[in-house]
Amino acid sequence: MLERIFLHQKQYSLKLRSEGLDVRIEALKALEKAIEAHTPDVIEALKKDFQKPEAETLLSEIYPVLKEIKFIRKNLSRWSKPQKVKTPLTLFGSRSYILPEARGVCLLIGPWNYPFQLCLLPLVSAIAAGNCAIVKPSELTRHTSYVIKKILTETLTEEHVFVAEGGVETTQELLKLPFDHIFFTGSTRVGKIVMEAAAKHLSSVTLELGGKSPTIVDATADLSEAAQKIAWAKFINAGQTCVAPDYLFVHESIHQAFKKHLIAAIENFYGKSADLRHTSPDLARMVSINHTQRLKDLVDDAVSKNAKVFFGGETSPGEHFCSPTLLENVDPHALIMQEEIFGPILPVLTFHEISEVIHFINERQKPLALYCYTHSQMNMERIQQETSSGGLVFNDSVIHFVNPHLPFGGVNHSGMGSYHGKHGFRAFSHEKAVLKQSFFGKLLRIMYPPYTPFKMKALKSLIRFRL
Ligand code: NAD
Repeated sequence: MLERIFLHQKQYSLKLRSEGLDVRIEALKALEKAIEAHTPDVIEALKKDFQKPEAETLLSEIYPVLKEIKFIRKNLSRWSKPQKVKTPLTLFGSRSYILPEARGVCLLIGPWNYPFQLCLLPLVSAIAAGNCAIVKPSELTRHTSYVIKKILTETLTEEHVFVAEGGVETTQELLKLPFDHIFFTGSTRVGKIVMEAAAKHLSSVTLELGGKSPTIVDATADLSEAAQKIAWAKFINAGQTCVAPDYLFVHESIHQAFKKHLIAAIENFYGKSADLRHTSPDLARMVSINHTQRLKDLVDDAVSKNAKVFFGGETSPGEHFCSPTLLENVDPHALIMQEEIFGPILPVLTFHEISEVIHFINERQKPLALYCYTHSQMNMERIQQETSSGGLVFNDSVIHFVNPHLPFGGVNHSGMGSYHGKHGFRAFSHEKAVLKQSFFGKLLRIMYPPYTPFKMKALKSLIRFRL
């Protein structure tokens, strides 16, 4: 069945090539309308999947997709135009341009943590660039997958966009097909499986992966503001955010003061007592018992290696609950400092010199995001020049995600390629090099054999003057 749909899409993608932009714009408009109409269903589905608060669904699932559609509709005609490029003297008389063309049929594989947004956002870029797509939402958030299927089935034909629901075996079946492009959002572990499968067909890939995003707070930072921003970025979606601060490096001189600000921020957001935080409607749950148990194991392992829980620490796997938790004195060899935490637990480490932090970051895989709270120009310069990460934000966290002018993506272990705005359009387009020769092309016969002494002389001049 998946192969049949793939073949239909292959046919339709050829037809789409000769259609005007209005087909893509109409599809995006229809999608926009359907998302608006089904917003209550999306809110309901995410409540059922992991008790995601309505405000967070609106802010982090619905709004980014509607905003992206609006941005694309405004700019699509400009992005799609052939882009003229210069012609060197040797090709005198010819004209050259870059023409973005659709890749063809794309596979989009989504994760569970922002299950609506992370399927729909790449999809709108894929549609804008003129592609067909098979969307595979995560099996762990089945209520949201159902709504995604409903919205897309009501809006678009299955030869244009098809939603393949199912478990890991469905993803594995899909990965056997020769897609033109695969856009994967998920873990680094599965990213490697996807890339291996793509290599068999030489399908191009965009990999939006995870990892540990470090956050630095130096002695010049505004402590109260930094604490609020970090607490929000860490505990939204209960820490199940690919770009959430994973661990903190706080300057030793302000460490004690900063801990107090951090605790105050968490208490203001989710309640002053452990009971209030346990029942807070503003704190999402973990997606499954296994994920909650994994977090509990990470804390237990850190504590067995001398870490101290100085705030929170309550978990209840049966209820998928993990309270906002702060750890200190964490051994860098503890599991919690090895794997992406992906939950509401924040290790707080200290540093003396910024060089120590830079060294620590550079010794590990390149992060998806790096955050630095500072007013020191020198520290900003050093972090920017001496580290590598998918994104870098000074004096805030996570918000670079919402600027459609910035490419969003990782580097090496945290990902490959990027999207959002024009970067998404480019991810789903092939930039075709087009050259139109003119009458003057005849001059190039000078390159054809036989290579007479005159031609050799001309060739040597070409090299000498780098024409
Ligand atoms: P995951 O890698 O476990 O699953 C993602 C998708 O891969 C699912 O649709 C699943 O069906 C499929 N999959 C799982 N195992 C597979 C296998 N063996 N073979 C083929 N397909 C398989 O990721 P997840 O747990 O859903 O999401 C969490 C991870 O995603 C975290 O690492 C997080 O950082 C990352 N993430 C990254 C971004 C980003 O934009 N860079 C965004 C969200 C999440």
